[in-house]
Amino acid sequence: MKIFCIGRNYSEHIAELKNETPDAPVLFMKPNTAINPNKDRWFLPEFSKNMHYECEIVLKIGKNGKHIQPKFALQYVDAISVGIDFTARDIQDQLKSKGLPWEIAKAFDHSAVVGQFIPLDSLDLDHLSFSLLKNEAPVQNGNTKEMIHSSAKIISYISEYFTLQKGDLIFTGTPKGVGQVSIGDSYKGFIENQLLFEFKVC
Ligand code: MG
Repeated sequence: MKIFCIGRNYSEHIAELKNETPDAPVLFMKPNTAINPNKDRWFLPEFSKNMHYECEIVLKIGKNGKHIQPKFALQYVDAISVGIDFTARDIQDQLKSKGLPWEIAKAFDHSAVVGQFIPLDSLDLDHLSFSLLKNEAPVQNGNTKEMIHSSAKIISYISEYFTLQKGDLIFTGTPKGVGQVSIGDSYKGFIENQLLFEFKVC
């Protein structure tokens, strides 16, 4: 199983991190050991002094594909959820300033929280609202209609370079409102009004 992540896919988040808007999707990966194995807890690693949450819609691929055209791309999604792309922002900033790869900041163990999956069915993947509550207060509210690169475009783009396989996950980018994680925080992730993950930081 592979985990693909798209960066810089919401304009207001690009602005809050003072990044440039890319022409093509910004793509990086996490290994399968990045999946958080604990449903109700997330352990804050000691190597970062500025760990950030990034709440994102997550696509689960349902069948293998390569060179997928955008018009057929959504046929490859069989379920969706909401997740967190945990990011050691201090380490990422150091690596970015040197032009180096981000893996240590983005792909470490348990850096991917993934909520319960729901079938795509009648949901409109291009008009889906999602949100993150931190300590019961809303910190991120997004809608997939604000994505610079749509889910179909992302799937098509990834499949130009990588064979997508059943079970692969795609994090589709985070809207504005990312922020620092502290021990004791609680987080809840929603698609529309449906609670799909809930955990505490230890
Ligand atoms: Mg992200």
